[in-house]
Amino acid sequence: MLGDGKSVVLSFDDGPAPVSALESILETLQENGIKAEFYVLGSEVEQYPDAARMIVGQGHAIENHSWSHEDLSSAVKQDVRWELEQTQNIIIATTGVTPTRIRPPYGAGGFRGNLDPELIEVARDLSLTILTWDIDTEDWKAPKGLGPEKLRNIETQFTQQPRKVSFNILMHVQPATARDLSSFISQLREWGFVIAEP
Ligand SMILES: [Zn+2]
Repeated sequence: MLGDGKSVVLSFDDGPAPVSALESILETLQENGIKAEFYVLGSEVEQYPDAARMIVGQGHAIENHSWSHEDLSSAVKQDVRWELEQTQNIIIATTGVTPTRIRPPYGAGGFRGNLDPELIEVARDLSLTILTWDIDTEDWKAPKGLGPEKLRNIETQFTQQPRKVSFNILMHVQPATARDLSSFISQLREWGFVIAEP
């Protein structure tokens, strides 16, 4: 089977809003006994502090996804620093947790072979590991969510990385993903994957 001897970590970007989608995602994760990671925006944590605390309260990892979803690869160093530092500060102040990972918006400047030197420097100063993803669900593309077309594409991405044994799967906090998450988790398990903790 596709996932024999292999594991996946589920990650959700661009939260904590919309809060109703987040609540639904958290409920599905809880029902399935899964711990995931959430790459949140500082600006949304400021606006929805209770939602950020909900992520942490249910045992999930909360991580840095910049303040305003800026493309950090084209930003000057001063802006990169501001984006990451402000986000660290608001997450720590709101949840008491210090993020250890940064996922740059769009993955820009974060992929091996294309790493942005300023991003590397700022991340190091803030003790953040730069982490992108292995499987892009494209859940934000029309038709949104994790329907049959997306599943075929996801299956292809797994088969294109035959020697890899652990995969980080990128999704987003949005209603269509919340709606389809339960069946997606079932599909991953049918394929034989173990869903691991981040
Ligand atoms: Zn994002």
